[in-house]
Amino acid sequence: MSNGKRTAGFSKTSLIKGIQCPKALYLSKNPPAIEIKPDPDLEAKFQAGREVGILAQQLFPGGTVVPFSDLSATEQIAKTRELIKAGAEVIYEASFAFDGIFIKADILVRTGTTWEINEVKMSTSVKDPNYDDAAIQYYVVTNCGLPVSKVSIVHINNKYERQGDIDVQQLFTSEDVTELALVRQGALPDIITNLREALQGDEPTIDIGGYCTYPYSCEFVPYCWRDIPEDSIFSLKGRGINKFNYYSQGIVRLEDLPTDKLNDAQRFQAIATINKEDSTNPAGVKDFLDSLWYPICHLDFETFDAPIPPFDGTRPYQKIPFQYSLHIQEKEGADPIHYEYLVEPGDDPRRELAEKLLAEIPEGACVLTYNQTFEKGVLKNLAEAYPDLADDINARIENIRDLMIPFRKRDVYRWQMRGSYSIKEVLPALVPELSYEGLSVSDGMMAMRVYHEMCKINDLVKLTELRQGLLEYCRLDTLAMVNILDKLMRMVILD
Ligand code: SF4
Repeated sequence: MSNGKRTAGFSKTSLIKGIQCPKALYLSKNPPAIEIKPDPDLEAKFQAGREVGILAQQLFPGGTVVPFSDLSATEQIAKTRELIKAGAEVIYEASFAFDGIFIKADILVRTGTTWEINEVKMSTSVKDPNYDDAAIQYYVVTNCGLPVSKVSIVHINNKYERQGDIDVQQLFTSEDVTELALVRQGALPDIITNLREALQGDEPTIDIGGYCTYPYSCEFVPYCWRDIPEDSIFSLKGRGINKFNYYSQGIVRLEDLPTDKLNDAQRFQAIATINKEDSTNPAGVKDFLDSLWYPICHLDFETFDAPIPPFDGTRPYQKIPFQYSLHIQEKEGADPIHYEYLVEPGDDPRRELAEKLLAEIPEGACVLTYNQTFEKGVLKNLAEAYPDLADDINARIENIRDLMIPFRKRDVYRWQMRGSYSIKEVLPALVPELSYEGLSVSDGMMAMRVYHEMCKINDLVKLTELRQGLLEYCRLDTLAMVNILDKLMRMVILD
């Protein structure tokens, strides 16, 4: 329903973007003359959001959908009005406009003489922007003349474990946010007016700030941050100084930062970067190497997750392994033997993967991972899912060692790592001859995207190509570990 006060100006999404930063809203309507790469996960996120939204409708069955496609905004508003007049109890995607703001309420429920708005989110908790979202819904719907008694955020309950068909009552949980939506009503008219004015003029003069990454990562960072050098105060890893405080004093380059104000890790990073200084502590490296034994099994999983658990015994957003690579070195200096697994898309990979892995990792072998928390978490979930395999899986977990440790402890540091101990920074600094460049899959998020794509297509040629890309990528992850371990051994020998 619309009061027709002004022509539509913003969607709710635009308004929330403008609340985070008016310049972001301006740039979304007046794109800057540099390439802004779209978020590669955007379409997948939309799709997952749509699926979650449709499933949540089952919480309030028997409603009518006001479709987004096929109808113009005006038609969607008219259809909503018709349904309300006809006595509808539940409306999905109910559409309204007021003061130039067009919104769609995910699930609108009649409760006697008033209405309840349910906004569906695929997150596992309510986040601050959700309150703005609820406030905007309330503002528009009530100003269109509908009395609203309650606004709720319906979100995913990550404690739910699937058994059989999805139980929507368990999968979702709901939080009443009416009070906060009401508190934010007073400020909304001014916010809307100010944003509308910002759009009329030149690009707003807004400098970079914490709002560039919170609550959402802004897509215009490449534009607004283009003059910030790579080795700036913002490249410092971890918590410590308030970087924007220094920035407001005109300090941008690491060289200009008083290092006595930094914590130990940041001072270490800053000095190494400024002086292009590498460092090695052979005694620390030796301690780490002494904790390993042969055979050494270099292991890496690729996983996917989803808000709606896909298999029995899985929870929302649980990391489900669909692939692994394993390089086994029988003894020092031996060429590694390679094993790998990649599930047929769509199948539950867990049992087959667990059995194959147990057959390939010898009992008592040292299992080397890079960031053991991740691999241990995946293996613990497998042990829980298959009690008959639990003893064998737990024995492998006991033998896990973490190749990240010498880098995290700074026993080995190369200035090019820029404070990071991720394998993606360590590998090029230590083993530049091995590179992820040129691979069709170059990181874990991309691997997950490719796996999801494989689940949707039937084209055999394309499937083979994608499969090949995943195998090459995962293989390189464990081959990188073999090479990094070799470099560590040479450091100790050379000392
Ligand atoms: S990068 Fe920062 S300053 Fe630029 S538009 Fe985004 S939030 Fe605003």
